[in-house]
Amino acid sequence: MSSDSIRCGVAGVGYLGQHHARIYRELPGATLAAVFDANPARAAEISALNHNCPVASTLEELASLCDVISVVTPTDLHCQVALPLLAKGCHLLIEKPLCVTTEEAVLITDAARKAGLVVQVGHIEHYNPVMGYLETAVTKPRYIVADRLAPFNPRGTEVGVVLDLMIHDIGVALQLANSPVTRIDSVGVSVLTRHEDIANARLTFANGCVANLNVSRVSEKKVREVRVFQDNAYLSLDFMNQSGHLVRREGGKLNKEEIPLEKAEPLKVELASFLECVRRSKVPKVDVTLGRTALEVALEITRQIHASWQK
Ligand code: NAD
Repeated sequence: MSSDSIRCGVAGVGYLGQHHARIYRELPGATLAAVFDANPARAAEISALNHNCPVASTLEELASLCDVISVVTPTDLHCQVALPLLAKGCHLLIEKPLCVTTEEAVLITDAARKAGLVVQVGHIEHYNPVMGYLETAVTKPRYIVADRLAPFNPRGTEVGVVLDLMIHDIGVALQLANSPVTRIDSVGVSVLTRHEDIANARLTFANGCVANLNVSRVSEKKVREVRVFQDNAYLSLDFMNQSGHLVRREGGKLNKEEIPLEKAEPLKVELASFLECVRRSKVPKVDVTLGRTALEVALEITRQIHASWQK
């Protein structure tokens, strides 16, 4: 890739895609080259908010105008949108979860590998300053607890809450535990959709670490918290407010300290990191391998929940 500005595009400029478009327009070394949406009126609206950037009338036209593209369509369409873009030679940032089946994940992985293209998966918390801190402070986690609660919103309900929200914490737990998952125990309840809207999963890792993940998308309040227990410390952090504290035993007493975190817009950090990987042909922090492993764990949790409904 030359040192010229990277031509960036967005496929699907709904709630989240509009922010991808704005950030590509703002990032140094990048140009918002075009947007595309199945709803042309929405594409025109987002173009107008971004200095009237070009609106592609097909996916193929989008690919011809761009070096890199964010796929921000509903989750069940990620694969069918991503494959033709990879065939046209575009590097992709595919929103989380990577796709909805292991077969689709294999198709995307193989297409990217054959074409030598960068594919990053939009596990945004990995670019949150909270995760940056956890990656340095967590050395030997024994127990991880994550709570992610959100009020109901019809967006995202094409999949269950495990693929929609728990996927974030599965990715976080996989990264922090840094060990293969050996056992999964799940429970889930459907409240407002035909999928699970509330779920709990307990993941056991080969190194003995256990992660207990709780999610709801029918909650009154919004929560995105993680707590990590290890031999020398207990860490409690909040992804939403980018704050947290650390408790350590010192001289037989417990010492609590606030964790100094420099706030940042995680999506901006994520997209800047993606462009840097494209520029330098580097493997992204959240590559297809992590995206695919997180998806496989999420699909097993979903399978267990649905199987329990048959009993
Ligand atoms: P949305 O419904 O608001 O937007 C989706 C957009 O895609 C719509 O404008 C729709 O018209 C368009 N679209 C539908 N089919 C298309 C196609 N074939 N080609 C091009 N455009 C098409 O949904 P959203 O909330 O923005 O979610 C989009 C994706 O982003 C989902 O995968 C979701 O999981 C993910 N997401 C991630 C986060 C995060 O924290 N990383 C947050 C929200 C959403």
